[in-house]
Amino acid sequence: MTAPGRFTRYGARVFDDPRHDPYEPRGKYAEGTHCASCGVGYRDGRWQWGGAGSARAGSGGAAETCPACRRVRDHLPAGYLTIEGPYVATHRAELVQLVHHQAEQENTEHPMHRIMRLDESPERIEVTTTDVHLPRRIGEALRRAYDGDLAIAFGADAYEVRVNWRR
Ligand SMILES: [Zn+2]
Repeated sequence: MTAPGRFTRYGARVFDDPRHDPYEPRGKYAEGTHCASCGVGYRDGRWQWGGAGSARAGSGGAAETCPACRRVRDHLPAGYLTIEGPYVATHRAELVQLVHHQAEQENTEHPMHRIMRLDESPERIEVTTTDVHLPRRIGEALRRAYDGDLAIAFGADAYEVRVNWRR
């Protein structure tokens, strides 16, 4: 059984229904909570960047450390993206730019989806993220822009994804 026009799936996890993030237990945060580290606010049941009056309203609520900041603090990524191959050597700056651009777009809507680290070497760029969605987004953007080979593997027993793009 394969969804039309999607990517290769590995393991038993269905992409659109990944294991729930253990760093974000449902119902844990009170409305108006804000992250003391990055300033994101918890409103309408989700983490959101400030909008009309919300950042200030949020500052009146409880202060916590949001799941993304906790992952950064714990050095525990949920997503791993590897970009590799000869193409990287000649187009590294361009590829890094795409990674950052996609991450910024994603983060605007999903504040918990962030890059943790980005390490560059001559034929390889390694990115870790706080979530399992951002690596897929970047991988698909790479494939759209540059073709290449994309592989996506979900952890069988963990909230984790490994994405590899190679060209
Ligand atoms: Zn935070």
